[in-house]
Amino acid sequence: MTQKEVMQNRQKHYQEVCENLAKNKYTPENATVSILKANILALVIALPFMILFIGLFLILHSEINDIKELFEIFKSSKCLVIIIAMIVSIPVHEFLHGLGWHLFCQKSWSSIQFGVMWESITPYCYCSEAVSLGQYYIGLLSPFVVLGIVISIIAICIGSISWLIIGLYNILLAGGDLTIACILLKYIKNKANKKILDHPSECGCVVFLK
Ligand SMILES: [Zn+2]
Repeated sequence: MTQKEVMQNRQKHYQEVCENLAKNKYTPENATVSILKANILALVIALPFMILFIGLFLILHSEINDIKELFEIFKSSKCLVIIIAMIVSIPVHEFLHGLGWHLFCQKSWSSIQFGVMWESITPYCYCSEAVSLGQYYIGLLSPFVVLGIVISIIAICIGSISWLIIGLYNILLAGGDLTIACILLKYIKNKANKKILDHPSECGCVVFLK
């Protein structure tokens, strides 16, 4: 199936889900963001987490806070391992979204699609079923927690700069997800019934309220 056909099928299925939710008296609200805004916000939101972990690392491992020593790593063979880990992180990141969301989909993995938007060389994971806000958050933030937070904490515990770089990179990689998570924050206090559906073509999702 070509990418165009995949998009057409997705759009068609998305319309069907929207119509079903509309029949059940749900009203949609867009929680999407433009690619440019997403990239800028991603950096702004990811930065405090990165500063926090760098700060913690430097405080707990004062023996390696010599900047020269810190940059030695870029001359060593570890550099290649870090680059490979960074490349591998990208598909693993998308897989973790799917792993989180498939648990809450009636059709399990059948409702999860993986692919690459070749125009922007951006890999994606798309969930075609509407899930609750909490369930959406679990799938959305799985890569940030597992690859970003957990790896950074392990790096701090074992004092590994290599792992810290991989953890920080993954926090940055999850910046777009953090942006969507922030946009969705306002719905947490909303007492209405909520269903969240991934947007078929834009960055973000649609919130259905009843
Ligand atoms: Zn993501």
